[in-house]
Amino acid sequence: MVKNCPTCGEGELASDTRPITFARQGETMLLEEVHGDFCPCCGEVILGMLEAERVSRRILGFNALKPTSGAKARSPEEFQRHS
Ligand SMILES: [Zn+2]
Repeated sequence: MVKNCPTCGEGELASDTRPITFARQGETMLLEEVHGDFCPCCGEVILGMLEAERVSRRILGFNALKPTSGAKARSPEEFQRHS
């Protein structure tokens, strides 16, 4: 069964495991090996319930690592060393 992307309506979602980056509050973080349905057209990623939970825990942890002021952009490589 082919699922169409809910965001662009054109891409056919492909189940895959890939590294993805999240942009959040002006910073980006890299998550490796995220399993989900990927849209080849617009880049949308649809996560399953377990993956969404895992990813949001990573994002919350990422925010907790941020200094409260004078935040400096943290590269994905730096973030991985700290996680
Ligand atoms: Zn799409």
